[in-house]
Amino acid sequence: MLFVLDHEGRSLHALLASLARRFGNDFTVTGETAPRVARDALETMAAAGERVALLLVDDLDSDVLDRAHRLHPSAKRMFLVDRDYRSQSPVVQAMALGRVDYHVVRPWADDETLFRAVNEALASWIRGQEPRFEEFRIVAAEGDPRALQLREVMTRFSMPFGLYPSDSEAGRRLLREAGLDASRLPVVIRYDGEVSVDPSLTDLARSIGVNVRNDLDSCDVAIVGAGPAGLTAAVYAASEGLDTVLLELAVSGGQAGTSPLIRNYPGFPHGIEGGLLMERTCEQAWLMGAHIVFTQQAVALERSGDARVVRLRDGTEVRARAVVIATGIEWRRLGIPRLEALVGAGVFYGAAVSEARAMRDQDVLVVGAGNSAGQAALHLARHARTVTLLVRGDSLATSMSSYLVTAIASTPNIVVRHRTEVVDAAGDQALQSITVADRAQGGVEVIPAQALFVMIGGEPHTDWLSDQVARDAQGYLITGRAVLDHPELGWDQDREPSTLETSMPGVFAVGDVRQDSIKRVASAVGDGATAVRLVHEHLRAVGSGR
Ligand SMILES: Cc1cc2nc3c(=O)[nH]c(=O)nc-3n(C[C@H](O)[C@H](O)[C@H](O)COP(=O)(O)OP(=O)(O)OC[C@H]3O[C@@H](n4cnc5c(N)ncnc54)[C@H](O)[C@@H]3O)c2cc1C
Repeated sequence: MLFVLDHEGRSLHALLASLARRFGNDFTVTGETAPRVARDALETMAAAGERVALLLVDDLDSDVLDRAHRLHPSAKRMFLVDRDYRSQSPVVQAMALGRVDYHVVRPWADDETLFRAVNEALASWIRGQEPRFEEFRIVAAEGDPRALQLREVMTRFSMPFGLYPSDSEAGRRLLREAGLDASRLPVVIRYDGEVSVDPSLTDLARSIGVNVRNDLDSCDVAIVGAGPAGLTAAVYAASEGLDTVLLELAVSGGQAGTSPLIRNYPGFPHGIEGGLLMERTCEQAWLMGAHIVFTQQAVALERSGDARVVRLRDGTEVRARAVVIATGIEWRRLGIPRLEALVGAGVFYGAAVSEARAMRDQDVLVVGAGNSAGQAALHLARHARTVTLLVRGDSLATSMSSYLVTAIASTPNIVVRHRTEVVDAAGDQALQSITVADRAQGGVEVIPAQALFVMIGGEPHTDWLSDQVARDAQGYLITGRAVLDHPELGWDQDREPSTLETSMPGVFAVGDVRQDSIKRVASAVGDGATAVRLVHEHLRAVGSGR
């Protein structure tokens, strides 16, 4: 069902006619002009078990949207908004807080503009429905963390799958049919009958059909890590004629692939699921001719004359003329499932600056006690009604620069709560509240919250590298001219290191793993593309014997 609330009768009829023409084969298209009648209609549909896929509304003031959302929680919500590029437009805040998922500006130039927006919303709705065909069936004990990992891998590769508790009727039947019992779980059953019992990540990736073996021993450029930086480097390197091998410890997508919604990647005004963006980029790298090897961890990097040798966990190695390190960081996560599901819809890792304006007159929370948390709180306080900084320890002074501590103390709308930890969250498609544990007084408290910014830092994935690849005190890779500030690193070339080059000539660092990187998807993508240009320059220099 596609349901429209449009206050103007003529406009409603035109809209319904257009939508029915394009989507009428698959969906019933209906609508109302009066909020009260719309509410009743939506209630009747819910009672009759009708599945509403999309709600198009031209009104955020009445409670239709919120009521409709309670009745039809999986329906995508689209706001029909008049063209108005002011920052105070109601759609700006509604998008940031996850009250609406999409917008369409009217008047639209032609129906195709409307259809594109509706298509995008429907495609996303369909992805959230139970698949009709399950390529894989997972039978697992309730709450088994390995089942979550299997689920994540399936999702990252867009595999349609079903998850069956081992004590359910369907779960028992699947095990019986496979000739197994529940003594070893989880069990993964492929559509053609292939059964894997408690599969490793590599077994699962192989069963999905992706390459898990390093079957090339040399290449022009080896890229380590398939997050946005590494995938982009692979797209550019392969498309520019370099023999490219991309090595990934797990499955592609990196941290970006775990984000339910990336709101600030250019070209996607409604945000894009991180997994989808990364899956497309991975497909693009492959189609450009990159050789991608999944579930293969790089464990060492050595210099051997002009070649750079990457050693892998399975004992094999790849000799490359240049290497791009794109191994990212392990972001510390709060690890609260209900909260992680709301990332992009009121829960943000970083992103305080880009979302600040949308927090106008809201009460927002920041988790963290470092400088980035302090800067975020001050920035948000310029727009939000109140900012509450949730700090695990007794004092900010141990982890935050004193100028920030002073600035926070003198900002009246910032409150600091010490010895407080987030333990749970609530909200189905947008954050509504969080639960905090008060470690000082004891007890828990539910705090209404529309936005929570998590700023608790992370650790770069660089411990597999030798001292020949220089790092700063936090473990980030030092690149460019900064390498020369450390004579002890022994830069031995008669030229300066190029901007993204590490202390090992011909080895480049891109994305989050690089010292002073911006820690955004778009900047990781920019680094990946830039590095390939520098790889070409390096190869030319080495090739001409310089
Ligand atoms: C929950 C969350 C939400 C976010 N939301 C946004 C957002 O909305 N907008 C935004 O711009 N940014 C966002 N970010 C930040 C963004 O995801 C990162 O800046 C970006 O992913 C960095 O890309 P990268 O390629 O440098 O590293 P990563 O994405 O971390 O990828 C690194 C890859 O390297 C692999 N790897 C590591 N070590 C090895 C090894 N030894 N051998 C082989 N492979 C290895 C890892 O498995 C991983 O796949 C978010 C981050 C998180 C955690």
